[in-house]
Amino acid sequence: MQFHIKLPDQSSLVVDASDDESFSVHVDSFPKNSEWDKSLLNVKGLRWRDEKHYHLEWLENYELDVGDVVTVEVVDANEQISPPKKVQEYVEPEKHCGFCEKRASEVEILIVRNPEYQLSGICNECVEACTREIEARRSRN
Ligand SMILES: [Zn+2]
Repeated sequence: MQFHIKLPDQSSLVVDASDDESFSVHVDSFPKNSEWDKSLLNVKGLRWRDEKHYHLEWLENYELDVGDVVTVEVVDANEQISPPKKVQEYVEPEKHCGFCEKRASEVEILIVRNPEYQLSGICNECVEACTREIEARRSRN
């Protein structure tokens, strides 16, 4: 499998991965005015071989600014990968629920353990759903 990552500076990263490797593209975002105040693009993978897995890092900590566009395109693969192309614009980060992915503006209450450094927390709806689930499981025992 081969995939291309087109970066905002017009450069392109070409990654050759064997069939027993998988990849993921991840943007780490940090709140404004925090110690970091930026976003980092990471492209990582996993290799399964002889029943062991190995961590791969093809791109580490590429800095993104708001408005930057990153394109990931699979150009050659044995299996169908859908979608074969993903275009992602990096938008202003907003605190969100790590369980249901709703943004802070979409929920009544969002609890973030460390608001200065974290964007991900849990919303009141998910806390309530978890509380119901915990009670249901306890009553079964
Ligand atoms: Zn939630």
